Amino acid sequence: MARPPRIMRTLPALHRAVARLRRRNQTIALVPTMGALHQGHLSLVRLARRRAGAVIVSIFVNPAQFAPTEDLASYPRDLDADLAALAGSGADLAWVPATETMYPPGFATRIVPGGPASLGLEDKFRPHFFAGVATVVAKLFLQCRPDIAIFGEKDYQQLKVITTFAADLDLPIKILGAPIVRESDGLAMSSRNAHLSAAERAVAPSLHRALTDCADQIARGARLDRVIEQGRAAIERAGFVLDYLEARNADTLRPIGSARDGPIRLLVAARLGRTRLIDNVAV
Ligand code: AMP
Repeated sequence: MARPPRIMRTLPALHRAVARLRRRNQTIALVPTMGALHQGHLSLVRLARRRAGAVIVSIFVNPAQFAPTEDLASYPRDLDADLAALAGSGADLAWVPATETMYPPGFATRIVPGGPASLGLEDKFRPHFFAGVATVVAKLFLQCRPDIAIFGEKDYQQLKVITTFAADLDLPIKILGAPIVRESDGLAMSSRNAHLSAAERAVAPSLHRALTDCADQIARGARLDRVIEQGRAAIERAGFVLDYLEARNADTLRPIGSARDGPIRLLVAARLGRTRLIDNVAV
């Protein structure tokens, strides 16, 4: 029988559990999530299991990273399904705080990251986003006191923001990135995919196809600006409203003029109906 994680809903309960792990000299890995768990999330948990003695998965839909116009109210939530998915995944603790636990009345602090958080990618279209993420991740780090924290490359800019933030603040936490897990047709797994209609779901994999087409052409020596221009057109022809398609330096995420400024990462965000999809690939 798969062992379910112990569920922690209050800070005192979490602190007691973390102290117990620390007393036993267990290394702790944290996997922060917003729930609606899929195989992408579970791959992070498996990586955590391999790297640490104990694994904490947090499940918290963080209001601070949603703008009032965004999908906080309709964000998919299914805690029972999440806990069932975590049973047997290797997670020891599920940290499931209430919103009032994370943001009690009078809460007034915000961490505003710079560097990779202000390069004209996600930040341009979701200006509130990275401060919301950095604030909640700082709280999760202090609450769970992990040795390792694991983030998916699916949110590539976020991974860079957290890595920089952890280094800048001398946090004694190793930040690990994990590869993107995809559906068999290439669509990057995402909790938001649940919002796609059948017709949109049929179109959605063309986003990844456009990325891989661009990556192939760049690898074969085609001119970067032309490839990106054609990629943008292909994504719009498929029926998306494009936020951005960019070729960036994979390490710094800074804009690049030619393939010589690589290694290159292609990053995209586009809307299909009311669902916003993001994806990225290495060249
Ligand atoms: P979320 O619940 O969307 O906030 O995601 C929680 C963590 O899972 C983040 O570090 C994401 O980058 C990661 N993640 C989400 N989708 C995937 C995926 N398809 N493959 C790998 N990691 C993912």
